[in-house]
Amino acid sequence: MDLYEYQGKELLGRFGIPVSEGRFVTSAADARQAAQELGGPVVVKAQVHVGGRGKAGGIQLAPTPVEAEQHADRILGMDIRGHTVHRLWIEKASDIAKEYYLSVTFDRGEKKPLFMLTTEGGIDIEEVAAKTPEKLARLHVDPLAGFHPYQARWLCFTAGIRAPDEQKQVIAIIGRLYDAFVTSEAMLCEINPLIVTPSGKVKALDAKVTIDDNALYRHADLAAYRDLAAGNSQEQRAHEKGLAYVKLDGDIGILGNGAGLVMSTLDVVAQAGGRPANFCDIGGGAQADVVVGALEVIMADPVKAILFNIFGGITRGGEVARGLLEALERMSIDVPVVVRIDGTEAEEGRKLLAEASPANVHVEATMLSAARRVVELAAA
Ligand code: GDP
Ligand code: MN
Repeated sequence: MDLYEYQGKELLGRFGIPVSEGRFVTSAADARQAAQELGGPVVVKAQVHVGGRGKAGGIQLAPTPVEAEQHADRILGMDIRGHTVHRLWIEKASDIAKEYYLSVTFDRGEKKPLFMLTTEGGIDIEEVAAKTPEKLARLHVDPLAGFHPYQARWLCFTAGIRAPDEQKQVIAIIGRLYDAFVTSEAMLCEINPLIVTPSGKVKALDAKVTIDDNALYRHADLAAYRDLAAGNSQEQRAHEKGLAYVKLDGDIGILGNGAGLVMSTLDVVAQAGGRPANFCDIGGGAQADVVVGALEVIMADPVKAILFNIFGGITRGGEVARGLLEALERMSIDVPVVVRIDGTEAEEGRKLLAEASPANVHVEATMLSAARRVVELAAA
């Protein structure tokens, strides 16, 4: 999960990294109000999950609140590399003497966190790495030995940061950045630029933080950063229901338990001449709530038929059948549903479905016959 700049700064600020004071707003009028409150010149910054905002015109200096409002008005709704701006960060403007770059990320090849520091900040780090690699200080941290202050000193020295007062601040920031990176289970913490003001103060002027999605359940505070507006997509809604869902472009809804089974279901449907509308894995167990949730997500797609493929392991066929029957009662499904249940309690599951025999439910014994049937029904 990518954090917006303002969220990243809030996070880095909590770890003691100096950032500028600012306000998060979503309207031009609020931008003006924020500028008024902050006093003095401000920077109006588009909040989107993509870099290069400055070049795209999404970052503007506003000497007065009126200008802040004008810039905000222009930036809101702007398209920055495919991302529409709905949010702004209004920040006290900083005077810049120097722009550095500092990041810590994972080097998967080395299986270690990797720090990068260069005094050539403000521009693309890839460019620095390609054109002047000697100016880029790189250092791996052994995750077991942990981070040690001498490593921050080495980074500073190698990057050519020599002024003692500046060194002291950068060294402290490197340690805090590592702390933030490890504590929040981030995949990336990048400060570009890390600036030095004319009076010699070092601070983070930008922040790009990516948190490991798989660790989010351990960080309720960070999970709350999830963008609910941008997360309005079907995939996000499915994710919130605990489903693994991927939208595809066919017309046959696919539901199954286990990623491997769902993938092979897609193959079998394709083999039978059909086109899956989605991939939806309900995981182990299949209580009615989960089945209802999954059917709701799938029915939001233009599906002509649904294939429900269950192989009972931990999941019991009887439970799945009850879940499906309850789901059919709770919501109106007006397309045919083909069900194949095998494995644990398959007999009971089939029996329950046969007894209830809802008009649009068709039980098939094998995966291939189920696939053929659903393709037939979808075409009817
Ligand atoms: P990015 O373009 O998406 O990486 O956005 P940044 O937050 O890094 O801002 C881009 C550039 O705008 C920075 O490299 C600075 O040169 C400039 N900038 C941002 N904030 C300020 C500020 O407070 N004062 C000044 N003078 N320039 C700023
Ligand atoms: Mn930047």
